[in-house]
Amino acid sequence: MKDGNGILAEYGVTVFEIMSRLAMEHGSINLGQGFPDDNGPDDVRAVAAAALEDQPNQYPPMLGVPDLRQAVAAHGKRFYGLDVDWQTETMVTSGATESLAACFLALIEPGDEVVCFEPLYDCYLPMIRRAGGIPKLVRLDPPDWTLPEDRLRAAFGPKTKFILLNNPLNPAAKAFSRAELQIIADLVLEHDTYAVCDEVYEHILFDGLEHTPLISLDGMRDRCIKIGSAGKTFSLTGWKVGYMTACPALLQRVAKAHQFLTFTTAPNLQRAVAFGLAKDDSYFTGLMADMQAKRDRLRDGLTAIGVEPALCQGTYFLNADIRSVGFEGSDVDFCREITLNAGVTTVPVSAFYASEGARTNFVRFCFSKQDSIIDAAVAKLGDWVAKG
Ligand code: PMP
Repeated sequence: MKDGNGILAEYGVTVFEIMSRLAMEHGSINLGQGFPDDNGPDDVRAVAAAALEDQPNQYPPMLGVPDLRQAVAAHGKRFYGLDVDWQTETMVTSGATESLAACFLALIEPGDEVVCFEPLYDCYLPMIRRAGGIPKLVRLDPPDWTLPEDRLRAAFGPKTKFILLNNPLNPAAKAFSRAELQIIADLVLEHDTYAVCDEVYEHILFDGLEHTPLISLDGMRDRCIKIGSAGKTFSLTGWKVGYMTACPALLQRVAKAHQFLTFTTAPNLQRAVAFGLAKDDSYFTGLMADMQAKRDRLRDGLTAIGVEPALCQGTYFLNADIRSVGFEGSDVDFCREITLNAGVTTVPVSAFYASEGARTNFVRFCFSKQDSIIDAAVAKLGDWVAKG
């Protein structure tokens, strides 16, 4: 049989899958998987169910149902003061993943460079490379993940097509500061380029932090594609409903790729997400408060058993330092060890790096789980730590 595409073939089984399989085999509590274990808001699901029965189920418009596109524009105004024309500046996609893929396919010409921060979400590099792009990686390191201005500046050049910014950043649980965003904005302007902004965790920020989309900074309105996800904002990851906001010139380019990728997204889910985005502020503050309580529960639990957590400003991930319990092996070894001998599974942060020799002492816990699951995981890990 002839080979498939070489770039994608290079990517083997990910460590996430390996750990999940190991977790299944050993019946361990899996805090590696990055999704909530509840079922999303009842009222949003009810709208989806009703729309399935009462509304058309044939292909909706290519850019999305008007209700959702209007809701995306209104959401941009309500939370960030953005004036968005829903007809020319919004588009619905099948998850943020499709938004990202559409951006890469539509914007990258072979040989173009794309500036990306490491650690990075797993679909970025294969998709950028498959689109012909050359990733220019800028490494952020735990535990404080500060933006290295010089290295970022050095990554930009005449071939830079755009910067890809995931803010808040998975798995670092970092929210880029206003000053860091300004550095990025200045470089985007200086190099007359633009930014693809993966902001799927925009509503999961803690300790009173407020999300600042890059698109809201001076000079950025026509240079950013802002991507959101109902999967994260409504804890409905299986729905794969994403949405983007961008100036008409950028949106039109990306729509060309979307048109040939999925073309559209399930109409009843779009209508339900439109309802969800229009929910009153208490829904959004409630989501943050719930997630913050879970973060605190895990953070305090880990601290009490001697596992040192890193700063967690947002997302539903908390990283912890494996050296704090005297573990001298790699983060991958640690994940294997605790799956087999503590009955808890996490993922190694090094799996989110691609550059040569990247190693970390950190593992990522997902805390968007029932309290009882978090408590049980901490108790099991505590027993393992106590055994030395
Ligand atoms: N970007 C990041 C940073 C993510 O963590 C995820 C989901 N884990 C996605 C994009 C994908 O979002 P969606 O499920 O809407 O495709």
